[in-house]
Amino acid sequence: RDAGLGSWPARRAAMSPGRTAMVFADRRTTYAELYERITRLVAALRAAGIRPGDRVAYLGPNHPSFVETMFATWRIGAVFVPLNVRLTEPELTYQLRHSGATALISAVPIDADVPLHLRLDDLDPLLAADPDHHAEPAGPDTAALILYTSGTTGHPKGAVLTHGNLVWNCYNLLVSVDVAGDEVTLVSAPLFHVAALNQCLLPTILKGGTSVIMPGWDVDGCFDAIARHRITWMFGVTQMFAGLSRSPRWASADLSSVRTLMTGGAPVPEALIRIFQERGLVFCQGYGMTETSPGATFLEAGESRDHIGSAGLPVFFADVRVTRPDLTPAGPGEPGEILVRGPNVTPGYWNDPAATAAAFTDGWLRSGDLAVVDGSGHLRIVDRTKDMYISGGENVYPAEVEAALFDHPAIAEAAIVGVPDDRWGEVGRAFVVPTRGMPLTPTDVREFLTGRVAAYKIPAHVDIVDDLPRTGSGKVRKGPLRARPLP
Ligand code: ATP
Ligand code: MG
Repeated sequence: RDAGLGSWPARRAAMSPGRTAMVFADRRTTYAELYERITRLVAALRAAGIRPGDRVAYLGPNHPSFVETMFATWRIGAVFVPLNVRLTEPELTYQLRHSGATALISAVPIDADVPLHLRLDDLDPLLAADPDHHAEPAGPDTAALILYTSGTTGHPKGAVLTHGNLVWNCYNLLVSVDVAGDEVTLVSAPLFHVAALNQCLLPTILKGGTSVIMPGWDVDGCFDAIARHRITWMFGVTQMFAGLSRSPRWASADLSSVRTLMTGGAPVPEALIRIFQERGLVFCQGYGMTETSPGATFLEAGESRDHIGSAGLPVFFADVRVTRPDLTPAGPGEPGEILVRGPNVTPGYWNDPAATAAAFTDGWLRSGDLAVVDGSGHLRIVDRTKDMYISGGENVYPAEVEAALFDHPAIAEAAIVGVPDDRWGEVGRAFVVPTRGMPLTPTDVREFLTGRVAAYKIPAHVDIVDDLPRTGSGKVRKGPLRARPLP
């Protein structure tokens, strides 16, 4: 009987015992060692009372223990609940309560009210337990993860992802990307978010490649890891790739080992894609959400030059529609809402029937994102429905204007929100972070946009700020920006 994803390390240990599964700092773990450690952890967690169906939460930055605990949890038949280290204690307390976690493994201090609380340091002695090779069976509908969404638009929602969801997401990725058995994947984005976990780590393990695990994102660490481990594959969000391209090391860095870079999860300015393509790198954009495990569309490498800025076609095993509010198909060039249906789509939010009911229409997941479909069926992501604003009767999609600002050398990052206005209904308010050491005024920003975007899209207000409020995965949280009083 199969244990779903819990079987993967055992199968890999049988097929490729000596290959390196994970690298973390100077520590290398083979697939045989990974499986061995997992079976000991299974024994220890079972002895501590963890039972099938329990929720096991993990709070910590990227670390091999994350991976080991996750697979041990699955072998016990329990549900893994990765928590975001950047959340505040009340937010974490909420997620622990909401998920009903019976156990918490934490690498950072937190005062948690859970029946079993283990610190990361407590795990090492547990690994002395005798291995327990028994794994509970898991079917496609068995819950594997409760994965909280990024919390970009509000409270993170706990999406249930089943073993089936995760497997089909891997298949979808493997159809679109030639993930090879000798892949050396840089896991630099946080594992408690869907992209690093399901688009990097799991497909790499499935193929028997090596995951180089970075404890956190930093530009120099990324360049070092690429050079030292001959990284072939990585996922990053816009902010990460922008950081690389703007680093003094960019021009001289040896990137010759890199076969594929994948991006998604946030708007990707075309200018950024071109910077990477000019270096001969394959830079693929995908679109998805936690609720879709996450792959919903993907631009394959072979198409990445002819469709710059596009998020590609629907993934192989899923259906995607782009619709008007009445759910009829959007016309050519008309932004419509993305709807997704397929084996990678969550059955719903944990313990939240109201949010689940609101997210689905006739079996289709409503994304809340807008896209335009071109003549060849490729999607171009426009923006979130919630972020669009209407100025003088015209729809403004802030992502388009933010992408235009990306071309300004003195602008490091920018975020635009709609704010109420007596004359126009709403106008744009831009929050702009200048590149370190470069002078920048609100007038510069507005003048730069003149001629680049239509006049009604130019933000009426420009605030020069030191930084932007971000989620743990590096996305700008626009709610707090909207709430800031105008000066
Ligand atoms: P929350 O749902 O809690 O508000 P979130 O939607 O940011 O947070 P995730 O599931 O991590 O949580 O992110 C999914 C969202 O990321 C999508 O709904 C979309 O808005 C955005 N996104 C994903 N891929 C792209 C892309 N290629 N271009 C633009 N936006 C993208
Ligand atoms: Mg969302």
